[in-house]
Amino acid sequence: MPYDPVVATTVQERPNGEPRLVFDDQEARAAEALDAFRRRRGRPPNVLVVLFDDVGWGDFGCYGGGVAVGAPTPNLDRLARSGLLLTSCYSEPSCTPSRASLMTGRLPIRHGLLRPPMYGQAGGLGDEVTVAQLLSEAGYVTQAVGKWHMGENLESQPQNVGFDDFYGFLSVSDMYTEWRDPYFFPEIVYSEERTRWVENLPFSKCFVHARRGGEPENVEEVTIPVLSLLDERWAAYSLDFIRTMAREADRRPWFLYHCTRGAHFDNYPSERFLGTSPAKHPYKDTIVELDDIVGRLIACLEETGQLEDTLVFVSSDNGPEMETWPDAAYSPFRCAKGSTWEGGQRVPGLVSWPGMIAPDRSSDGVFSLMDLFPTLLALAGAESAFPTDRYIDGVDQTSFLLGPDAVSNRKYLYYWLANVFSAIRVGEWKFMIASTSDDDRDALNLGGFTGVTQKYTHGRLYNLYLDPKETRSYMIRKLAYIDSFTSGIAGHLRTFGPYPAKQRIADLS
Ligand code: CA
Repeated sequence: MPYDPVVATTVQERPNGEPRLVFDDQEARAAEALDAFRRRRGRPPNVLVVLFDDVGWGDFGCYGGGVAVGAPTPNLDRLARSGLLLTSCYSEPSCTPSRASLMTGRLPIRHGLLRPPMYGQAGGLGDEVTVAQLLSEAGYVTQAVGKWHMGENLESQPQNVGFDDFYGFLSVSDMYTEWRDPYFFPEIVYSEERTRWVENLPFSKCFVHARRGGEPENVEEVTIPVLSLLDERWAAYSLDFIRTMAREADRRPWFLYHCTRGAHFDNYPSERFLGTSPAKHPYKDTIVELDDIVGRLIACLEETGQLEDTLVFVSSDNGPEMETWPDAAYSPFRCAKGSTWEGGQRVPGLVSWPGMIAPDRSSDGVFSLMDLFPTLLALAGAESAFPTDRYIDGVDQTSFLLGPDAVSNRKYLYYWLANVFSAIRVGEWKFMIASTSDDDRDALNLGGFTGVTQKYTHGRLYNLYLDPKETRSYMIRKLAYIDSFTSGIAGHLRTFGPYPAKQRIADLS
């Protein structure tokens, strides 16, 4: 079977699962490697997911950023060299939809969290099944640290959706501090009445600790000085967790979901990192700190003898938030967070597992953060836990990650702009039927969230190799492909018959 995703046909392995590209030799080699690992170590691997916030595809040195954009990332670059660098790793267009998609393996239009909940709004993971829950049932110790942002309501909190323990905050960085900063909210800070009014609004103002099934306990109110130290404190908590796991007598496998505060606006670097980036800018200092934290997490895995037992995955939950520039990430792609242009959804993706993933690999194979759901189940040997009562949009990418010259198991990537179907990618082609903004000249358009939804009369086609900034529609020259795009879209939309869309948090009305 050809390895070209444009011509290769998918296999529908499950009635409620996204069809997958299955290459028999690649699958066999991965299964053999995984079996050998389990025999050698007597258990499945640990999993460390580090998810940055609003960090761009171009921020890391290994993606062409780093020193070139005033924030060296030597630890991330080293991590990239130790394993696989993904150039086509995709999030959803914003925080909550992405995070819930990673957790559930489902598109936002299926789990229903189409935009971030703000200022105390309930999230509503509700009856969703999370990968943490399934790994926990498969014998994993499950730990969430840092940003959650999938709802402040008790039933959506990490300790109630599969995690044994949670140490972090339930919402999003700016909500804790923006109204405390006179630069952004002088009309609140300099008014006692308005300050009291905000203080009495029913949203969480503290970061919390919670144990499985319990109520969250406030650790500390997140003032600006406290916020500047959060990533440090959360890193210390994760480092403790990694050390504790190494000492556990029964050596259960573990899943650590470490979500940083940085580099979401507004960034207030801690004293240790303030002004340490060549750019001297708060966002860039924060990138230097995040890089340092990843370095410490990896060093801790090594010191405790767990590096070769642990799959490490580092990514970001969406592209740059350009509406807060210059407190913003760098991406070479068009547009930003909140949009389905590449700038909104293409994020860094580093995967490392020494001994199991060959070093110095890079691939443009398409990978969605949703793919972690079935992939982690496969690594855990828990494929039988794959849900049967709902559609799972993630595909098992185990053979792609483990094979030294392997290719992606995903044929199509579907882009959704909240509840509007936007685009399909296959190979180097992206066919768009709706997007934000209607102006082809504003390739550097800032408006992710501020753009308007624009539906195209005939669709637009972009070649992401020739035109990664998506500036020139190629449709009229490439009509030979049209049927594969429209049939791909039709096949996808048909899945919503038996598995209907869900909208829990859809718009601001
Ligand atoms: Ca985000």
